[in-house]
Amino acid sequence: MNPYRYSLAYAQELDRDDHLRRFRNRFYFPKVNGHEVIYFCGNSLGLQPKAAKDYIEEDLKIWAEQAVDGHFDSPKPWFTVHKRGKEALAHILGAKEEEVVAMNSLTANLHALMVSFYRPKGKRTKILTEAGAFPSDMYLLESQVKYHGLSPEQTIVEIKPRAGEHSLRTEDILAAIRQEGEELACVMMAGLQYYTGQLFDMEQITKAAHEQGAVVGFDLAHAVGNCPLELHSWGVDFAAWCSYKYLNSGPGNVGGIFVHERHANNAQLPRFAGWWGHNESQRFNMEKGFQPMSGADGWQMSNGNVLGMSAHQASLDIFLEAGMPKLREKSLLLTGFLEYLIREISGDSGMLEIITPADQEQRGCQLSLLIHKGGKAVFDDFYKNGIVGDWRNPNVIRIAPTPLYNSYEDVYRFAKVLEQSLSKFT
Ligand SMILES: *Cc1c(COP(=O)(O)O)cnc(C)c1O
Repeated sequence: MNPYRYSLAYAQELDRDDHLRRFRNRFYFPKVNGHEVIYFCGNSLGLQPKAAKDYIEEDLKIWAEQAVDGHFDSPKPWFTVHKRGKEALAHILGAKEEEVVAMNSLTANLHALMVSFYRPKGKRTKILTEAGAFPSDMYLLESQVKYHGLSPEQTIVEIKPRAGEHSLRTEDILAAIRQEGEELACVMMAGLQYYTGQLFDMEQITKAAHEQGAVVGFDLAHAVGNCPLELHSWGVDFAAWCSYKYLNSGPGNVGGIFVHERHANNAQLPRFAGWWGHNESQRFNMEKGFQPMSGADGWQMSNGNVLGMSAHQASLDIFLEAGMPKLREKSLLLTGFLEYLIREISGDSGMLEIITPADQEQRGCQLSLLIHKGGKAVFDDFYKNGIVGDWRNPNVIRIAPTPLYNSYEDVYRFAKVLEQSLSKFT
């Protein structure tokens, strides 16, 4: 039944058959003790595409040679820098080009979108989210609620897994939405949970929330560039993401937003406006009276960070070339192989437990390992053996093999290290 085998020859055979293997060489790998590491930390910071430097240098050159004229009078005018990434972002997010734009950073973008979409009124005030959300999202919701003069305790509803379970059941999320009913203003949660690695059923969640008259937004930090997304056809109202995790665009680089087409020309939505969201053809008239651009562009505030956008584009072009369906296909096989090897090796040793859903439709590339024996020493041992994952308190190791730059042999070599650790720590 199971197609996988625990052998180096088998891993190498999978690598030979891998149509995406050429992409590995497009990235720089860090070294530890002179050896390239096995990098399983793209969920935190993606590797640097070798082309990033060339893309940035092009804009540095224009800046050096043309300075202010680079805004309009160059082969790639900065005036339209936010348009460069639209084709790739639309592909990655399952959106129309007018529904997406690269701008600001993730938390700032979510605040800007909540200003427009979280409009508590009468008894419809509540926000539904997953328990144990990424801290920035907790602070975001808490401060949004207080901004409207409401109490976080009474307004934010957190959905928790059932006793003894680690992930949320879709039926429980949908039931919670129905239960809040007319009191629900907004669902704002992760698309893919950073700690457990669970991918939520965004389509069903959106449908259920809309039935109750609420709006829906997703934080796609861990889903973007990792999982299949169809934001437009799912009818999601808004979403935001960062580009430095699976999108490999560099530390702290530009984020992005999605606003569904149905809101594209709704000038009634309140927003915190800036000149870059103002009607492009009138922008330099420098006059009063904000007229938002249609679509996501109307939420822009500032002119884009060109050098950051260049690095972002180097990565986006790789995604366009590889294509999300092919990346997902490999990702399922690669993470499936990792899961198989972990189960083979840890067996019933009680050393660890995989808390990411076993159903591959409910996860991306990351597996989260709850460590029962050995604690952080297990993680440190991985690192000493050239494996970069990440540790999350109190006792979870996240391992994220990405289809762009990880190989099946990487996964096999990880398994060997895990096997050694098991003998040390159990
Ligand atoms: C990584 C991450 C963030 C980080 O937010 P920034 O504004 O980019 O610093 C926020 N939310 C989630 C869910 C994340 O995974």
